[in-house]
Amino acid sequence: MPSIGGSHIIPSGHFGTFISQTERLKRSATKLAARMTAQLASLRETARSYFDEEASPAHDWQHVRRVETLAERLLTDYPDADERVVRAAVLLHDIGRPREDRGEISDHAEWGAQQAREILPEHGFDSTDGICHAVRAHRYSTAPEPDTLEAKLLSDADNLDALGAVGIARCFTYGGELGEVLHDPDCPPSADETTDGATQFNHFYKKILSLPDRMYTDAGREIATDRRHYVEAFLDRFEQEVAGER
Ligand code: FE
Repeated sequence: MPSIGGSHIIPSGHFGTFISQTERLKRSATKLAARMTAQLASLRETARSYFDEEASPAHDWQHVRRVETLAERLLTDYPDADERVVRAAVLLHDIGRPREDRGEISDHAEWGAQQAREILPEHGFDSTDGICHAVRAHRYSTAPEPDTLEAKLLSDADNLDALGAVGIARCFTYGGELGEVLHDPDCPPSADETTDGATQFNHFYKKILSLPDRMYTDAGREIATDRRHYVEAFLDRFEQEVAGER
């Protein structure tokens, strides 16, 4: 079969040129990918505008970027997931967080999902249900549970950022903002009857260490377990130092 300039354009006599089916599919896939990249790039700018310099360091735009990286890593294990839905949901999942931290709204997940429904069509996203559900369901402590693979991937990526070295840093910066006691040897986790932990240290035992059990995907659970081991080693060392042993 003759070709022109190494391409797949097939000369067809005086009827002009025809593109092979394979080439047509390739071109339309490239066009779709370019469209997705452009939509996500403009959505990213809008999402970012919700986070000003006042945003809490524990829930700022850098947190969104880390969740994005984690979601990308999880997506490699789930090629059937709708990447566009996951990426859009990651960008929008915490847009309400600064407002919740300022006391202007009560639930950033619910508020974020409502905003997402308005924002997404402006950026060329015609179907919004999957993205809005993922945003609505990403919150650890409130209903609903994620019921799609994409929502599960967002939830897992978000919770992974609360574990490991980054999770330790975020936990203390957030506790500091709230003015919580760092650690109290007279209030060990075993005697702490509060839900969230009476000290920042105890919060790890009340919430953070259980995060691997709340993972929805195997890939998320594997990374979470590794990160939990790091947190456990840190907490052991912390207690040894408080006891003057190291
Ligand atoms: Fe988040």
